[in-house]
Amino acid sequence: MPKARQAQVASIIPFSWVDGPGNRFVLFFQGCNFNCLACHNPHTIPLHTRRANEMSVQEVLIEIRSAMPYVSGITVSGGEATVQHEFVLELFKEIKKRSEFEHLTTMIDSNGNAPQEIWELLDPYTDGVMLDLKALVDASHIELTGSSNTVVLESIKYLDSINKLYEVRLLMVPGHNDSDEELITTSLWLKKVNPNMKIKINAFKTHGVRASAREWPEVNESDLVRYHSIID
Ligand code: SF4
Repeated sequence: MPKARQAQVASIIPFSWVDGPGNRFVLFFQGCNFNCLACHNPHTIPLHTRRANEMSVQEVLIEIRSAMPYVSGITVSGGEATVQHEFVLELFKEIKKRSEFEHLTTMIDSNGNAPQEIWELLDPYTDGVMLDLKALVDASHIELTGSSNTVVLESIKYLDSINKLYEVRLLMVPGHNDSDEELITTSLWLKKVNPNMKIKINAFKTHGVRASAREWPEVNESDLVRYHSIID
């Protein structure tokens, strides 16, 4: 018998109120295709590490069953969930085909760095995507993540066009991507894609970040007021 596909899993949270709508079971994949200076979980960036657990779809389903009476859905996060998109596809297919899971929604929390072909594969089994846009200005994006945002911007447009973009999250990093000018450009770009785009602002904190970002200023109350006055 062929060996079942195994995922590299960083951790599981059986109940979360902050990873999508309602109370959610969250699977955090190991491995990311960005290398963000402001990453709060840099240990999840390498795909293979001794800290990760290997899990099959059936093993994840057992974990979901134990949490099922208390959750309204499943979120896959990371790391970057789409790096292991074949596993996400298999998992979501199982959830959507079994009546025992029919009340559960399936969401992806992503950095958006996946080509359209991957979103097309996942689309029939995915209820929504929460997508992090680290910076609209490509120079800021490259500085913050080590990569261009070209694919991310295409993902935003494509997911919006198929009605699967649940929200765009902006991680605001003072002095790196939060100038008035950059925020205004970002807001205009997103609202041009969809005037009703749901945009969520996340505030940079130094907790968990690598040494290179530990001395960076955190977002304060007046920053937040300014961000919201531009974005909302
Ligand atoms: S995309 Fe997320 S998990 Fe990946 S490096 Fe950036 S912050 Fe970390």
